Amino acid sequence: MKECKLSETIIDPWGSSDIADYSRLFELFGIEPVSKILDKFPVTHRLLRRGMWFGHRDLTKVLDAVSNGSEYAVMSGIKPTGVFHLGTKTTAEAMVYFQSLSNKSRVFYAVADVEAYCDNGIKFSQSHELAVSNVADILAIGLKPERVYVYKQSEEKRVMNLASVFSKAVTTNMMHAIYGERPFGLYFSALVQAGDILLPQLKVFGGPKPVVVPVGVDQDPHIRLTRDLAKRYSDEFGFIEPSAVFHKLVRSLQGTQKMSKRDPMSVLTLNEDPAVARKKIMNALTGGRATAEEQRRLGGEPDKCVVYEYYRDHFLESDAELEVVRVECVSGKRLCGECKAQLAELVEKYMTEHTRKKEKCMDLARKLLEEGSEIARSGGEIF
Ligand code: SF4
Repeated sequence: MKECKLSETIIDPWGSSDIADYSRLFELFGIEPVSKILDKFPVTHRLLRRGMWFGHRDLTKVLDAVSNGSEYAVMSGIKPTGVFHLGTKTTAEAMVYFQSLSNKSRVFYAVADVEAYCDNGIKFSQSHELAVSNVADILAIGLKPERVYVYKQSEEKRVMNLASVFSKAVTTNMMHAIYGERPFGLYFSALVQAGDILLPQLKVFGGPKPVVVPVGVDQDPHIRLTRDLAKRYSDEFGFIEPSAVFHKLVRSLQGTQKMSKRDPMSVLTLNEDPAVARKKIMNALTGGRATAEEQRRLGGEPDKCVVYEYYRDHFLESDAELEVVRVECVSGKRLCGECKAQLAELVEKYMTEHTRKKEKCMDLARKLLEEGSEIARSGGEIF
C-alpha cells in the first residue's frame, strides 16, 4: 500500500490518480488552500479566479519575493513523450504567469528525458525532436525566452550529481512509503527530479532562493520528497525548501481523472486536427439529461460536465461569457449538442492560432535547447 493512497484518494505521479474531492487533500496531505492567500497574488489569472490552481505548499515565500523585488525561480518540466495536451498546457500557463510577475524571475525548464526513458522506454535520441516541439509549445503559450534555462536532464551533470548525493539520504523503505513498489529506475528518476527542483539554488545559478514549482497535484509526492531532501541538505547547500502551486487534474473527455497521453481518444492535444477534435468533443461526457425535453424542464448539470470544464479552464477567457454558458445550461435554455458544437469552434480557433504561433517558435526552441546543452555540459560542480 502506498502512503499516497488514503481511503478513496490516490495521488500517483506515474499512473492514474483518483481525487473525488480536492479539499480532502488539505487534510490528508497537508496541502494548503490557495483560496486563503488570494490577496497575495499581485495579478489575477483565469486559472486562479476559477479555482483550477487550488492548492500550494509554501507559496507565500515566492509571492513575498515578488513583492520585495528579490530573485526567485520558476521550475518545472515536461516529459518528452508526445505533444502538449491540456494538462501540460495548464502547467505551462502557470509557468508563464509566475515568470511574468517580476523581472527578477528566472525560469528553469527541464526536459525529463531520463524519466521518459524510465517510465515510457523512450530513448534519449528519440526524445530530442519531441523536446523541440514541447519547448516551442510553451513559447507559443507565452514564455519569454529571456532568463530561461532549458535543459535535458540527461545532459545536466549537476542534476545527476545532486541525484547521486541525495541517494545517500534515502532508503528503499522511504521511497516505497512515498511511491509504493516501483522499478528502481522510477525511484532514481524521482531523485533526478529532486535534483531538477533544487538546481536553481546552486551557487552557479546564484545560490539559495525561493523556487516555485507549478505542477499537477499528482506530482505532489515529488514535491514532498524534494522538500524533505532540501531540509536534510540545508546545512551543506543552504537550500530553501521549494514551494509548489498545484493545479487540478484535467479530466479526460470521457470524464475519468487525469488526461493521459497513453489514450489518444481521451485527450485533446494542441496540434489536433479540427475534424478529429470536433469528433472527440461531440463524444465527450456532459452533464446533460436523458432527453431534450427533460433538459429544457430540469436544466443541465454543469458541475458534472466535462464540456463545461473545458470552457471554464481552457477555452473561455471572459468570465461574463462563462456565466452565460452556466446560466443557460442550468435554466434549460442550452442543449448539449449546440453547446458541444460551440466548444468545438472555440477549440478550432485556439488550435489554429496556437499552431501559427508555434511554427514561428520552432527555431527559437531549437536554439534554447542547444544553448541549454552547452550550459549543461559545461560543468558538474555542485558544491
Ligand atoms: Fe454541459 Fe453544455 Fe450540456 Fe450544460 S448544456 S450539460 S454545459 S454540454
